[in-house]
Amino acid sequence: MGNHTLLKQINKLLVLKTILDNKIISRTKISKLVDLNKATVSNLTDELIKEGYVVEKGYGKSKGGRRPVLLQVNKDVGSIIGIDLGVDYIHIILSNFVGEVIFEEYANMKIGEDKEKLLRLLFDLIEKSVKKAPQTPKGILGIGIGVPGIIEKESGTVLLAPNLKWQNVPLRSIVQQKFNLPVYIDNEANAGALGEKWFGEWGKVSDLIYLSVGIGLGAGIIIDNKLFRGAAGFAGEVGHTTINFQDDVCSCGNIGCLENFASERALLSVIKKLVKQGVEDRYISWENVDEITPSRIIQAAKEGSRVCRMAILEVAEKMGIGVANLVNIFNPEMVIIGNKASFFGELFLEKLREVINQRSFIAQFYNLKIEVSKLKDRAVVLGCIAMVISDMLSFPEYA
Ligand SMILES: [Zn+2]
Repeated sequence: MGNHTLLKQINKLLVLKTILDNKIISRTKISKLVDLNKATVSNLTDELIKEGYVVEKGYGKSKGGRRPVLLQVNKDVGSIIGIDLGVDYIHIILSNFVGEVIFEEYANMKIGEDKEKLLRLLFDLIEKSVKKAPQTPKGILGIGIGVPGIIEKESGTVLLAPNLKWQNVPLRSIVQQKFNLPVYIDNEANAGALGEKWFGEWGKVSDLIYLSVGIGLGAGIIIDNKLFRGAAGFAGEVGHTTINFQDDVCSCGNIGCLENFASERALLSVIKKLVKQGVEDRYISWENVDEITPSRIIQAAKEGSRVCRMAILEVAEKMGIGVANLVNIFNPEMVIIGNKASFFGELFLEKLREVINQRSFIAQFYNLKIEVSKLKDRAVVLGCIAMVISDMLSFPEYA
């Protein structure tokens, strides 16, 4: 694709996103906000209207002369499927063109599930969503999938997802062949960051780090309003940064990776370590420690379990150290704690903030915000909706 075409497509997406963010807006106002001349904005909005993504909706107030025509995103032009392919779950939504959820399902699965079984569950969930799609002019526009691993976006291949034990899985073509719909894939933490930018509480923050905490740990890094992808598109693998020189081997093959100290998996291993040391209470003991789940640990901590509170504080401390490193490198305005950690509670957040502020060299010199995602565990699926819209308009060749 020529540079000119690419630039035009990116501008078109920018115009669409501006209409979406403002809900209803005139062409003149768009031109001011995105810093493109009126003729360019008119051409782009005309295209968006012709394609059905944008509609004219009445008139605004006149400032002398003709009243301006107002534009709105056509939320019912088509539906989109967003999928968060977790390590121990699949979360799927069907939404309209502005991210309003029409159908949602969350399916748990066991860690290390066989790939064929996992794909069968994925296909079942997609099929269910397809059946729930309402009649719209464009039908289902695409499927976006967030995967916890290293993704080659152009080819739609999962190069390595250590926690799924996947290597070189051509996920896009597998799903495309089955459903005959455009499929876009990306790293799940990147999708989460995109979800926050498009549909989250802090969409206007231009430099942020989104932390996706599940069984593993990943980061989506937004610099100057854009996802930072790095040279090969693999940036953000914070879970596999080394914070311990001597430790067990990580699922990625490295030693001493952060995600073994700062994730749901870490929560489980800290609990086991404590029980082994004889630290028990009426919630956790050697009798039930093997059946305990991360969500049960969080619940028990809220009910007053000393052991669970100790485990949460230890994980918060280690995560704080990892995040302090990120803060030193990127100087973000905000760190958003997302996915499963958005349910970890006030105890966790307080400790995390304390450690980041203690450990980061630069945090004391500016107003760093550390917040829990308001989208909770929906940031990734919503980010997948945003991914379909933006890739469809800017990088149609990815599908
Ligand atoms: Zn690792």
